[in-house]
This record gives sequence, structure tokens and C-alpha cells, in this order.
Amino acid sequence: MAREEATGGGPDRDLMILIGLEVILMICSEWPEIKLDEYKGVWVGALVEEGEINEASLQLIGAAKELADKLGTYIGVALVGYKIKELAEELIYYGADKVFVVDDEKLAIYYPSTYGMAIRKLAEKYKPEVLLIPATLKGREMAPYIANMFRTGITADLTSMDIDPKSKEVVLIRPPFGGYMLAHIVTKTRRPVMGSVRPNIFSTPQRDEKRKGEIVKEEVDVPEPKGIRLVGRIPIKKKEEIPIEKAEIIVSGGKGLGSEDGFKLLKELADLLGGVIAGSRKVVDAGWIDHNHQVGQTGKAVKPNVYFAVAISGAAQHVFGIREARRVIAINIDPNAPIFESADYGIVGNYKEVIPAIIEVIKEMKQKRKTGS
Ligand SMILES: Cc1cc2nc3c(=O)[nH]c(=O)nc-3n(C[C@H](O)[C@H](O)[C@H](O)COP(=O)(O)OP(=O)(O)OC[C@H]3O[C@@H](n4cnc5c(N)ncnc54)[C@H](O)[C@@H]3O)c2cc1C
Repeated sequence: MAREEATGGGPDRDLMILIGLEVILMICSEWPEIKLDEYKGVWVGALVEEGEINEASLQLIGAAKELADKLGTYIGVALVGYKIKELAEELIYYGADKVFVVDDEKLAIYYPSTYGMAIRKLAEKYKPEVLLIPATLKGREMAPYIANMFRTGITADLTSMDIDPKSKEVVLIRPPFGGYMLAHIVTKTRRPVMGSVRPNIFSTPQRDEKRKGEIVKEEVDVPEPKGIRLVGRIPIKKKEEIPIEKAEIIVSGGKGLGSEDGFKLLKELADLLGGVIAGSRKVVDAGWIDHNHQVGQTGKAVKPNVYFAVAISGAAQHVFGIREARRVIAINIDPNAPIFESADYGIVGNYKEVIPAIIEVIKEMKQKRKTGS
């Protein structure tokens, strides 16, 4: 079959979609019906990293608020793990109305199946209408477990949420097919409506210690993880580098660097400014930098004070990841590069000349500050 037909929606593809839909309908028809109006509340499945609620979970509470206000309902947070109950209050400060806590030694180590089961048990009992999970590494593993247990769908990497004005259904919105369109996804017959959200798509709400909420402690039957036995613990050496999603200054490189060596110059600038390096998908695909440093739709969304886009063309999928950046400085040899449309400042030129010049100016400024001249 020609490539165009395979991807372009020819008769074969339409037939396959029809067959696929029939299979789905056949399976769906065996699921017991649920009473949709029993489901209330917009929930977030909070994740804890190294003893702290991770920022992506807090951002989701902010996102949940807008939806909960539109639905006229409450914001719930499922907090599961071990020795985590003292974190419940913190979630209220960030906007949760109710926090449902499962604190169990069996959850001392994260497994998607056990954590997923604990959240499922909570959701089974309290029936939230919507359940949002941060699309971190753990969240991405866990969310499909939960969705599968509820026989519900999941909208992965959603970027916004709304309510259909006529039907009042929750609409989850995400950019499929490379970000050139927006899919509006409605879960008609199953609950909860589930979605996963990448870090930094929504802003972290203001912390307010005066906020009051309810903490509900639950004991649920958490299973032992199947097929896995803990034989010991090896402490993980903490990486010194700031992760790009938390960095204040990012010097990011694209394929126009020409080779991996180009990153040496970028690293020099980043170090001088106390920042970190990152890159486009093309440089990740080329193996010049690892995927943890990829900015964009299939990488990470970042929110630095300053984002240097060096030899990056500015494709929609890349720009998607820098929407929250405060200032974008683009350096590109091509004056018509689309990145200039998303930049606050633009420098047209060869990065091999521009970056050393910037480094020199910064060094001079630092020296002057030191000597007070
Ligand atoms: C589903 C999907 C998801 C994707 N997700 C992502 C994502 O998460 N992140 C991402 O980045 N991309 C993503 N992409 C890929 C994206 O479409 C682009 O292909 C990619 O961002 C281009 O990378 P680039 O800008 O580094 O390279 P190019 O597009 O090749 O651009 C190189 C730029 O360097 C400039 N240049 C060349 N030499 C010099 C020089 N000496 N000095 C200065 N400038 C120079 C050129 O003028 C050009 O503008 C995705 C694509 C798809 C389809």
C-alpha cells in the first residue's frame, strides 16, 4: 500500500476504523452500565517524589479548579503512598477541598499496579466525575492501569479542559497528529473521565495557608505487587543538574548546531548564567543530547525566565514547550525562521559567532562587577 493511502484515510483505513469501532462497541456492550449522575467532583491523583508533592500535581489542582467551578463541584485529591499523610494539609493550601489519603507500608515503594489500585479503590468509593493524573514518568505508567480498571478512556497529554455548553459534558482537549489541530474528547458512557497532563502546561496555584479543607483517611486493601520481590535498596545518587522543567535559564540547541560539539559552546553560556542546556527533538533523535532534555510536545514543557533558542527553526511542536517561558531569545542564521515569531528578542547570525560574543560580554560584565569599575 502506498504511504499516502496508509496515512491519508483511503478506503482500507476507513474499513479498518469501522471494524475497530465495532470491536470496541462489542466489548463496551458487555460492561455494566453506570449511573453517570452518581459521579461528582474533579479529582487529581497526586504524586509524591522524594517526600514532597511534585509540582505537576499542584499544577493540576489549579487546572482542576477552573473545571470544578464550571461544574459547580469540589476538588478532590487522592494521595497514596507511605508516610505521606502529613502532606495532605499542603494540598489543601494549594486548592484541594478534600484530600483522600491512603498511607500504607505496602506503598513504601512505587509500583504502578499497587498505586493504581489504591487510587482505584478510593475512586470506586467516592465516585469522582473527573480524574486527572500528572503525566510524569510514574503518572504515565499508572494512569492506564486505573483507566483500564474502570473500563474508561483516557485523554493523554491534554492541554486544556472545558464544558460543552449544551450537553454539560466534560471536554478534554489535546493536540494530536503533530499539533496541527485540536481534538475535543468526550467520555460519553464511562466514569471517571480521565486525562493525563504534562508538567508545566498549567501554572502552580498560589499557596494559601488560610485555606480550609477536609482530610479523609482511608484504609484500602492494597495488594502485594505481583511478580516482584524487594531484595534490598540501593540509594540513588542525586543528580546535581537542575532538571530543565525547573530551570530559570535554558540554553537550547537545535539541528542547526551541526554536530554534538555545538553543545559545548551552549554549555559554556549556560554555566556562565547558572542555567542548563536543552534541545529540540531533532538533536535528541541524533543522539546529541538525551531525551530528558527535549523541549516540546513530546518532550517537556518549560517555564524559564530566559530561553535561548539557538539554531532551532521553531516548529509548532517545539514552540508548544516554551509557551510559559518569560523571555525567548532566538539565534538563527535564517531571518525567516519561524522561531522569530515566538521570540522576544532575535539575533540573525551564525551561532558560532553570536554565542562567543555573548559569552565575552557576560564575562566582561561579571569582571566589571567584581572590580566595581
Ligand atoms: C508528533 C510530533 C511531535 C514532535 N515533538 C517535538 C518536540 O517535542 N520537540 C521538538 O523540538 N520537535 C518535535 N517535533 C519535531 C518538529 O516538528 C521539528 O522537526 C523539530 O523541532 C525541528 O528541530 P530543529 O529546529 O532543531 O531542526 P531544524 O528544523 O532542522 O532547524 C534547524 C535550524 O537551525 C538554523 N541554523 C542552521 N545553521 C545555523 C547556524 N550555524 N547558526 C544559527 N542557526 C542555524 C536553521 O536556519 C534552522 O532554522 C515533533 C514532530 C512531530 C511530528
